[in-house]
Amino acid sequence: MGRLGDELTKVHLGIVHEKLAYANFYLAQLAYTCNLTAPLLERFLPADLAAQWVPGIVQGEHIVALGLTEPGSGSDAAAMRMRARRVDGGWELTGEKTSITFAPHAKGLITFARADEYVDTDGTVRTGGITCFLVPLDATGVEIQKFPDPGWKPLGRAAVFLDDLFVPDAQVLGDVGGAFRMVMSEFDYTRSVIGFMSTGVARKALDLTVQFTKDRATFGKPIAAYQGVSFPLAEAATKLEAARWLTYRALSLADAGKPYTKEAAMVKWYALDVSLQTIHDCIITHGHTGYSEEMPLQAMLRDVSGLEIGEGTPQIQKLIVARSIIGREFTG
Ligand SMILES: Cc1cc2nc3c(=O)[nH]c(=O)nc-3n(C[C@H](O)[C@H](O)[C@H](O)COP(=O)(O)OP(=O)(O)OC[C@H]3O[C@@H](n4cnc5c(N)ncnc54)[C@H](O)[C@@H]3O)c2cc1C
Repeated sequence: MGRLGDELTKVHLGIVHEKLAYANFYLAQLAYTCNLTAPLLERFLPADLAAQWVPGIVQGEHIVALGLTEPGSGSDAAAMRMRARRVDGGWELTGEKTSITFAPHAKGLITFARADEYVDTDGTVRTGGITCFLVPLDATGVEIQKFPDPGWKPLGRAAVFLDDLFVPDAQVLGDVGGAFRMVMSEFDYTRSVIGFMSTGVARKALDLTVQFTKDRATFGKPIAAYQGVSFPLAEAATKLEAARWLTYRALSLADAGKPYTKEAAMVKWYALDVSLQTIHDCIITHGHTGYSEEMPLQAMLRDVSGLEIGEGTPQIQKLIVARSIIGREFTG
């Protein structure tokens, strides 16, 4: 369908992610990450380097992960400590990024560091600031430590340590000092897409459960005949539909070129909350079989709870909504 702005809209991309997540959350997360990193590389790398990195992502040959979080800064991303020191022809990066999805498998990492003050080619002293870099993960000076996670198992999550790693100027993405605004401006879109991924998983859980209530009988009747079973499913279906329409609304505003920070933040906490509650109700409805790893429901619960934390916790989203409806001068 071409690129965003042609026939392809953000609503379309949201729908694709929901459909993928319905079939397999891990595929949706793969599409999500590739869809985030490939356009950044295509936009900011020189053409010869972009040709080395971007087609491989699109063809599924390699992955480029995105690393913003550090051990001491998650929600407060601007407090990052990774440092970039100016050297001849580029920058030397030192520090630790953590909690990076796909890092154990990725070929490269788009990451962020605080660039020191530096002298430009014309002799001007520049302030530096938070800057975005492409780092090849097989380079000397990179160490990766994988986490033993309860969910997201095929994806992997890891800490990445950089020790005086040289990154040439050509691998600086965007302006030196201009990266914070760049990454923050992506969050409204990514949070909305995460909303659709969570409802995709929850709808799959609900469909499996509806079938189960018709097949499973107790006291001489299918359990679907008991309102104690069917009403929670009716409530879940209603709330999921409401969450989906909120997500459509956020992405429609995006496609119309209107601000949607508040709506995206609403999606990121509400759709995730509803999805988790739905999956939980589905587990209860399955009785003891819902607790088994032979059913996908427990994995769904763990996967969606990971989504709830990544890209901003529910508290941070509510802070954004509160600021937007009450005013930053009152909420801080
Ligand atoms: C499965 C998974 C995948 C991830 N993938 C990536 C990735 O690919 N790349 C990446 O860079 N990061 C990734 N992350 C990290 C994620 O973005 C951070 O975990 C998240 O931003 C929260 O940061 P933190 O863990 O440091 O928590 P903190 O910021 O330390 O927060 C701890 C708690 O305090 C609360 N809190 C903090 N500040 C406030 C406040 N002002 N008001 C109210 N409550 C507050 C938070 O809501 C949270 O409950 C991933 C995380 C998970 C779980």
